[in-house]
Amino acid sequence: MPTMVMPKAIRSFVPNPNKEHRTLGNCCVTDRTITLATHSVMERTVRDRVERVLVPLKKLEILQTFAHELSHLGYEEHGYEQEWYGRTIFNTFGLTEPCPHCHGKGRIPARYENT
Ligand SMILES: [Zn+2]
Repeated sequence: MPTMVMPKAIRSFVPNPNKEHRTLGNCCVTDRTITLATHSVMERTVRDRVERVLVPLKKLEILQTFAHELSHLGYEEHGYEQEWYGRTIFNTFGLTEPCPHCHGKGRIPARYENT
């Protein structure tokens, strides 16, 4: 595992619902700045008209993006090592989510997905 490189700055942004945003985060490796979205954009149909609305991201989703972007300070390109490193960082947060089968009576570790 590479030595943990910490970011110099972490910024947040609210996506513009009228623009296409392909990612929920970004990591600029040269100036070690991580940018994280606080919302995602969803489409909903109201009276046959499609509206684009902002939906707040869950803390879990923001931290997953943060772990992913932080992993790019160790591995710039996407790949097996970067994904594994991102998962390792994510797991250190010790997050759990309600079990979908028992509706929150039991808890399972949160999943990391490389996106
Ligand atoms: Zn990435």
